[in-house]
Amino acid sequence: MRRPMIAGNWKLNKTIAEACDLSTTLAQQLADVTAVDIIIAPVFTALSSVAATIKNSPVKLAGQNCYPVETGAFTGEVSPLMLKDAGCDYVIIGHSERRQLLDETDGFINQKMLKALEAGLKPILCVGETLQEREGNQILEVLTAQIKDGLVNLSADQMAEVVIAYEPVWAIGTGKTASDEQAQEAHSFIRGMLQGLFNQQVATQTRILYGGSVKPANVDGLMAMDDIDGALVGGASLKAEDFMRLVRFQAQ
Ligand code: PEP
Repeated sequence: MRRPMIAGNWKLNKTIAEACDLSTTLAQQLADVTAVDIIIAPVFTALSSVAATIKNSPVKLAGQNCYPVETGAFTGEVSPLMLKDAGCDYVIIGHSERRQLLDETDGFINQKMLKALEAGLKPILCVGETLQEREGNQILEVLTAQIKDGLVNLSADQMAEVVIAYEPVWAIGTGKTASDEQAQEAHSFIRGMLQGLFNQQVATQTRILYGGSVKPANVDGLMAMDDIDGALVGGASLKAEDFMRLVRFQAQ
C-alpha cells in the first residue's frame, strides 16, 4: 500500500563529473524499476548537471537542505524554489548532521518544511536519537518533540507529500545498524504519533524510512518490517553496485 522508497544522501562527496558518472549508471541500470521510488541527493553544485543525466529515468533528485526564504540577502543559502528550478522533487530536512554540527532547531526545521511544501517539494524529515539519549531512555521523548515540533502547522493534506526518516544518530556512518526490531519499534511509535497529530489515514499512508548504516547485508531484514517503508542511505549510496542492490531489496 505504501510505495517503497530508497534515497541516497551523497553528503559532501563527489565533483560534478563524479556525480554525473554515478547518476548516469543508476539511470541506465535501474531503468526497469517501477515499484520503488529512487531518490539521489548530490551536492548543490552538481544538481542541474545530474538532473540532465536522469531525465526520463525512475531516478529522482533531492536537495540535501534548503533555507526557508524564497530570495533575499541570505548569503550562501539555497531556497526551495531554487532546488525546484535545478530539477529537484524532494529535499532532505533536519538531517542529524545539520542538527548537531549547525545547531538546527525543530522550529527552524519546521519553517523549512512549510517553505519546501509551498514550493512544491516533497520534504524528507529526519528524526532520531543520539546514543546518550538512547542510553538515558529518552528515545520516545526525543522523537515526540522532533516529530511534533517539526510538523507544526502542516495540514493532513500536506502530509501526503511528506516522508519521515528515522535515523538513530548512533547508527549514522558508524557501521552500527539498529536491529530490525529496534527500528520497527521506533517506526511504529512514529506512526502512532501521526495518528494522534493528524488522523488514521495520515498514519497509514505516510512513508517512514530507516537510516543508519543500511547496506546490502542488512536491507532485506529491515525492509521486511511492517512499518519500514524504505531507507535513507549515506555511505552505501556512493557505490553504484551497493545502491542498486538496496533498490532491488528482497523483503520476505
Ligand atoms: C545518512 O546520512 O542519512 C546515513 C544514514 O548515513 P549512513 O548510511 O552512512 O549511515
